[in-house]
Amino acid sequence: MSFPERLISGYRAFLEGRLAMEQNRFRELAENDQSPEIMVIGCCDSRVSPEVIFDAHPGELFVVRNVANLVPPYTPDGAQRAVSAALEFAVQALKVKHIVVLGHAHCGGIRAYAEPGAPLSPGDFIGKWMELIAPAAQSLGASERFASPADYLAALEHQSVVKTLDNLMTFPCVRILVERKKLQLHAAYFAVGTGLLSVRDPETGVFASIAGAGHARVFEQPRF
Ligand SMILES: [Zn+2]
Repeated sequence: MSFPERLISGYRAFLEGRLAMEQNRFRELAENDQSPEIMVIGCCDSRVSPEVIFDAHPGELFVVRNVANLVPPYTPDGAQRAVSAALEFAVQALKVKHIVVLGHAHCGGIRAYAEPGAPLSPGDFIGKWMELIAPAAQSLGASERFASPADYLAALEHQSVVKTLDNLMTFPCVRILVERKKLQLHAAYFAVGTGLLSVRDPETGVFASIAGAGHARVFEQPRF
């Protein structure tokens, strides 16, 4: 069998562990359908799994992942648009109450945009997709304004998440519900190296850690 051994062993561990613990929940979800209250738009990056970061159970998160956690602006042009379809389903059918755009550190997609000399891939799609970063980059200004290339990339990762919130608001179905206070949009950022998650305060625009006071020691010193 050429099916990856890692997946076979992982599935068998799931049968013995998580499925055994959550069998009732799976049965209930199969009978009553899913009703997650939170949609997460995250990056494909294998280090940034929303279900892992938020310790989520089956049925709790409606997750869309794509390169660099982007949402193209509302464009009803008849083309097949995966993110728009998922968004419409989440908002209009599932009636989620929150949409979280989850950015992250060391994002290869963001780096590919910022360092055009080193494309992420030579194919037909990445370059076009990453053009969605341009408005965020323009609002930041020249990369030379930043103390280091790493600072610039981190700023662009944050700014891109904020711009994605703006793009979400171009969807009439999103904007109407946000204005009626039935839907909230959130920006979050995961620091892969430390595990620190920060969430943007919509009033101040500042990203701040949501770890509890008791978790401060987790981030005090290098853990690896
Ligand atoms: Zn990424």
